Amino acid sequence: MKSTFHIMLIPTLGCPAHCKYCWSSDEHSPRMSIETIEEVVAWLKDFRDDQVTVTFHGGEPLLAGEAFYREALPLLSDGLSHLNPTFAIQTNLWLLTPGIADLFAEYNIPIGSSIDGPKEICDVQRGEGYYERTMRGYEIAREHGLDVRFICTFTSDSVERKEEIFDFFLENNLTLKLHPALPSLRDSNPDRWTLSPEKYGELLIYLLDQSLEHLGEIEVMNINDLCRGVFTRHGTVCTYADCMGNTFAIGPDGSIYPCYRFVGMPEFVMGNVATHPSREELEASAVWKQMEAFRAYVDEHCKDCAHIKYCRGGCPYNAIAPTGGEVMGVDPHCPAYARIFEEIGGRINKEMFESSPFLEMGGPRSRRSRATKPGVMALIRQIAMR
Ligand code: SF4
Ligand code: SF4
Repeated sequence: MKSTFHIMLIPTLGCPAHCKYCWSSDEHSPRMSIETIEEVVAWLKDFRDDQVTVTFHGGEPLLAGEAFYREALPLLSDGLSHLNPTFAIQTNLWLLTPGIADLFAEYNIPIGSSIDGPKEICDVQRGEGYYERTMRGYEIAREHGLDVRFICTFTSDSVERKEEIFDFFLENNLTLKLHPALPSLRDSNPDRWTLSPEKYGELLIYLLDQSLEHLGEIEVMNINDLCRGVFTRHGTVCTYADCMGNTFAIGPDGSIYPCYRFVGMPEFVMGNVATHPSREELEASAVWKQMEAFRAYVDEHCKDCAHIKYCRGGCPYNAIAPTGGEVMGVDPHCPAYARIFEEIGGRINKEMFESSPFLEMGGPRSRRSRATKPGVMALIRQIAMR
């Protein structure tokens, strides 16, 4: 199955918020110019011919301002019309204005935002006033009919209050996407907020149980993606699929990186849109070779793992960014992935066995299974109906 073509545009790495665990913002970051957008369009004209999703990411991409988007969106939409582009944005919503919201509605742009749970938990991690400002932007987005989904970063602290956080999302009718706090490569104490693989695994099991308990009431995107991946035996989000060659990020100065997570790290630059590099030229870059080395490492290191087809060693950024590009292991979240894959796979097998027609004939066990709460297969059926 071919992965989708994804271009991430990073108009700036600057951000007005000061989240304590942030690893990517840079207050001295330049802003992307419209000339760079024109170069992106020229570069992508003959680069690839399948449908493209363009996501604006940051830092905080709304710092680029309404005028930037009023020029950039038509340029990208018209200039790349042969790629049938769709757009998305990841923003904390602080700078969303009715004017920008109107524009985003015109281009049917879904919004990913970030909130870490109720105000008192969120603001400890993301800074005083974060919650109110994001919620103000959320109201504007809703008034303009925009679809908003929230990423919730779980840290070593907030994971201890996972019940409160889950209830907050449930009670406020919000879709939840979990993000584990990563080590900050720019901090003197990089692991202060990091979610350990053990806690991450426990959290995923908890969210699986809660998803089933509240089936139809809340969508936990990670759980849907994981169940879909195990059932179809193919990763459906970048973490569990080979992202190399399908995802590219463009930094504010036009530099090309393998993903937004690498933006601002000069050692991971593959080229620049100004020179319109071909795929072959990008393949010749040192970064591409490092990503290929990661893929080869996974093929060898994970070859006996039952989950390799729908895990693919996890996220290469997590694996190679802390070592400056050297491949020394798979994604450190491996134990968390293995744990949730085992759990989901085990439950699917059990549910399928219990609903077997042979047991129907045998009687008592099948009668017992009909009385139980919704299982993973019920969730998978629900996902398939969407
Ligand atoms: S590097 Fe990680 S976050 Fe980036 S596209 Fe690949 S899997 Fe996704
Ligand atoms: S769960 Fe771990 S060992 Fe298995 S494929 Fe994923 S990273 Fe490799």
